[in-house]
Formats: sequence, structure tokens, C-alpha cells
Amino acid sequence: MNSKQKRNKKTQLIREYGSRCWWCGCYLPSEELTIDHLKPKSKGGSDSLENLRLACFQCNNSRGNSLFPPEKKSKAFSLSSISNSRNRG
Ligand SMILES: [Zn+2]
Repeated sequence: MNSKQKRNKKTQLIREYGSRCWWCGCYLPSEELTIDHLKPKSKGGSDSLENLRLACFQCNNSRGNSLFPPEKKSKAFSLSSISNSRNRG
């Protein structure tokens, strides 16, 4: 994917799923969302929309090339306790 195609996919994904992380459900501006492959490209996953989801950097990063959802890390807890006023709801 070149950057133009990537932006286009992102726009389509936002239209489909909303401007939020598929894994943790947090709402983010589009520029802070990354495109995540449900099936990693390294494992033969495609660039088609059915294989793509939006993810925040943290979830995308913690998944890596895994076929599975990101694990809840204890780090996330300490982070949420710091910014407890931001993610209410
Ligand atoms: Zn997330």
C-alpha cells in the first residue's frame, strides 16, 4: 500500500466502524489510529478491508504479528490510573 491507498482505506474503515480502536474501543482522531491486519501480512493476510481494522498504537503494538487480540497488560492499568479523567464512560 502506498500512503494514498492507506489513507483511503482508513477513511473507509472509519466510515464502516467509526473513528475508534477495534480492540479496546477507544475513540481517537483518525491521525492517531493505525491500520491493523486481523491476519498479519507476514502470515498471508491481505490488504482487503475485511482483513483490516483500526487500532490505537498501543493495541497494534502489543499485538505485533499475533493472530490474536492484544493482551491486557498491567501497564495499561497504571496508564489509566494516571489519566483517569480522560477516558470516562
Ligand atoms: Zn486500542
